[in-house]
Amino acid sequence: MQIKDTHLHQGLRKRLIEKLKAKGIDFPEVIAAIAKVPRHVFFDEAFREMAYDDIAFQIGAGQTISHPSTVAFQTQLLELKKGEKVLEIGTGSGYQTCILMEMGVKVFTIERQKSLYDKTKLFLPEMGYSPRFFYGDGFAGLPAFAPFDKVIITCGAPFVPQELLKQLKTGGIMVIPVGEGEKQTMWRLVKIAENQYDKDEFGQFSFVPMLEKKAKDK
Ligand code: SAH
Repeated sequence: MQIKDTHLHQGLRKRLIEKLKAKGIDFPEVIAAIAKVPRHVFFDEAFREMAYDDIAFQIGAGQTISHPSTVAFQTQLLELKKGEKVLEIGTGSGYQTCILMEMGVKVFTIERQKSLYDKTKLFLPEMGYSPRFFYGDGFAGLPAFAPFDKVIITCGAPFVPQELLKQLKTGGIMVIPVGEGEKQTMWRLVKIAENQYDKDEFGQFSFVPMLEKKAKDK
C-alpha cells in the first residue's frame, strides 16, 4: 500500500498540535512524534479528513484508535528515555505504537483480536515501524521478555494486572486506565521497590475494555 502524506495533512497535523498544546501536552519529544506520524493513514479513505480532529474512531473489530490527546498524554506520562523497553497492551491500529517508536524506545506490543493483530503486523512495517508484535492476552504480559522499563495499557483495565506489575522493572513506570464501565481513571504507578508502588491519578478517560478471554478469530 502506498502511504501518501501531503502538505495538507502536515498542515492539519500542525493544527492538531496547537489543540494538544492547549490541552497541556508540552513535552517537545511527544509533540515532535505527533507531528511526524501520519494519522490519516490509519483511517479508511472516506474518513481521512477526520483524522486530525481530537477524536477516537472505529478501527474495526469493535475497537477504536484512541484520541490523539490521549495517546500524547499517556506517552508523556511514561517519561520515556531512548533505548528503553516498553510493553504495550492493545496494539489496535498501531498508531500509539508508532508514537512510542518515534520516542526511540523498543516496543513489545500485544493484541488479543486476531484480525487487528494480522492487519497491524503487516501495516506498520510498511510505514517503516517494526516493533515486536504478539497475538495474545495482555493480562499475562510477556514474561519471556521481561522486565520492562515501562508498561502502557491502551484499554480500560478492570484492575491492575499483577503479572504486568511483576514484569515492570524497579524504578519503572506503568500508565494504565483503571475502571469498569464507560469511564476509567488514568493511573501512573511507579515501582519504587518489589511490591511497592507510588500512585498518581490523572483524570477521567474513556477506553474500550481490556478483556480477558481471547476472542475467536474474526
Ligand atoms: N493503542 C491503540 C488503541 C486500540 S483500542 C491504537 O492506538 O489504535 C484498545 C485495544 O486493546 C483493542 O484493539 C483491543 O482489542 C485491545 N485489547 C483489549 N483487551 C486486551 C487484552 N487483554 N490483551 C491485549 N489487547 C487487548
